[in-house]
Amino acid sequence: MTDTDDLARRNAQFAAGEFEAGLSINPSGNMMVVCCVDPRVDPTRVLGLEQGEAAVIRNVGGRITPTTLRTMAMLGKVGAANKDGHRAGDWNLVILHHTDCGMTDLASFPELLADYFEIPAHELDAKAVSDPIASVRVDVGVIEQEIRANGFLVSGLVYDVSTGLVETVVAPTPVRSE
Ligand SMILES: [Zn+2]
Repeated sequence: MTDTDDLARRNAQFAAGEFEAGLSINPSGNMMVVCCVDPRVDPTRVLGLEQGEAAVIRNVGGRITPTTLRTMAMLGKVGAANKDGHRAGDWNLVILHHTDCGMTDLASFPELLADYFEIPAHELDAKAVSDPIASVRVDVGVIEQEIRANGFLVSGLVYDVSTGLVETVVAPTPVRSE
């Protein structure tokens, strides 16, 4: 077990070294990442994110569920309350799924997954929980249906836990504002 004293020591090193004071509450990269809780898929490492560069939502599978959408709506309010820190330019929502995802193990618990996606269990096939290439396309589609905003792109990536490489499955696509 990693113990908390060790974490406190690592934090002291961080605070004395790479910590950057004065970062904005608004992500400097105009970017949000939605990704899985899997410890191998830390977007800071996998995508080389800098401090303060991206807002990150992590959940099981990195899925766009109704809860994810509600979280994004709340973050939109936070952004609106901190307009001064906004950078000009488009926003990029990056959905990051990965191979060997634990979602696959949940396929045998359809009632849990149905609750998670807030859909009837007989519609679960449409969520492609066992195929990250398909699931990231599904979730880009959910964003395209649910989000109406100008200057907003969505992209879908899949991380291969056996190679460390990310594949761009859906290139940055503008969300329609009507
Ligand atoms: Zn996962």
